[in-house]
Amino acid sequence: MRTTFIAICLLTATGIRCGYAQPAQKPEQKKEDKHMSASDSKNAAYSRTDSARVDMPEGEWKKVLSPEVYYVARQKGTERPWTSKFEKFNEVGTYYCAACGNPLFRSDTKFESGCGWPSFYEPISKTSIIYLKDNSVGMERTEVECGRCKSHLGHVFDDGPPPTGLRYCINGVILDFDKARDAQKSYDAKKGD
Ligand SMILES: [Zn+2]
Repeated sequence: MRTTFIAICLLTATGIRCGYAQPAQKPEQKKEDKHMSASDSKNAAYSRTDSARVDMPEGEWKKVLSPEVYYVARQKGTERPWTSKFEKFNEVGTYYCAACGNPLFRSDTKFESGCGWPSFYEPISKTSIIYLKDNSVGMERTEVECGRCKSHLGHVFDDGPPPTGLRYCINGVILDFDKARDAQKSYDAKKGD
């Protein structure tokens, strides 16, 4: 026994590795450098560049969206206030529809409304959003849906700040955010002039 122990020590000392002591190292796996949003893995409708309308059966939406997104987007649900990571969030970039990738809002139109949901005063374009009358819950409100896939986003109210006076009160779960790296760089460069 003692002889075996000495033999192992000698082998180790000479740099020969014992099989049991050093498990074979796996070749380093290359990480894919790809932006993966929560919703674009299996969702064929998701595109940041295609502006063609999406008309997908509800059963299909249920398959490709997470239960949280499906509840808000397709069942007109409302997330609990103060729960969205985007509620207090000031990064520079663009907010997209989490169901279809349609660009919805720019970060420079976001403001602190104190209502508990991410709030914006203006959508990216007139066609990025659809407006619908909503008389549910005994109130006259205007519902806003994604202009591309008709997913429910939230509501718009007329108590927002200038220049529009509007407050788009949006469920954070239906937003995908992408940081504007290049835009930020050129902005910083200008500031430095
Ligand atoms: Zn959409």
